[in-house]
Amino acid sequence: MPQSITIALSKGRILEETLPLLADAGIELIDDVKKSRKLVFPTTDPDVRVLILRATDVPTYVQYGGADLGVTGKDVLMEHGGEGLYEPLDLNIARCRLMTAGPKGETPPAGRIRVATKFVNMARRYYAAQGRQADIIKLYGAMELAPILGLADEIVDIVDTGNTLKANGLEARELIDHISTRLVVNRASMKMKHERINPIIEKMAAAVEKRR
Ligand code: AMP
Repeated sequence: MPQSITIALSKGRILEETLPLLADAGIELIDDVKKSRKLVFPTTDPDVRVLILRATDVPTYVQYGGADLGVTGKDVLMEHGGEGLYEPLDLNIARCRLMTAGPKGETPPAGRIRVATKFVNMARRYYAAQGRQADIIKLYGAMELAPILGLADEIVDIVDTGNTLKANGLEARELIDHISTRLVVNRASMKMKHERINPIIEKMAAAVEKRR
């Protein structure tokens, strides 16, 4: 009996760019994701199903074996810690940068600094590595508001074009890391289902190469 494979995809901006890569690997969703409210989708491969999840839940599903494979941002993976996961492939999509940012023209205070972010683990690691004392304030969105309203001196956030920062009177300061979307695999699945998983990784790698 063929082994079944579950792939967890991140909804939102990554999804549209992920689907063509999967299609090149011979896996296409039967329903139109945009029109459907389903969370589990059958595919053109009867042994493969796809889950559409919040990006931050993808590593958790893959870690605990709820999904064999997952697609999510490096930012999410670094924040999660990557426990129980292999990361065999950079899909080279949704490229952006994790940066510090603050009010335009201002310099950050010399001593202890207040930083608002949703990436608390990465922010903590970054300021510690810099030898800077930082109080990290966890927010779930609209980080750009924090310096404007005096909640924080600086933010740590994803920057693509820089337009969001600019529109809120902020500017990027330091680069923390380059980010892109990654394919992750559950460690046990990699061993038990390698005959099914390896060809998927290889075909997706070829699809990524083709687009370079
Ligand atoms: P931008 O205005 O182009 O610099 O885009 C910045 C905003 O878009 C950030 O606040 C992010 O939340 C979001 N964003 C841009 N690119 C990505 C990405 N690849 N992954 C996740 N969020 C992103």
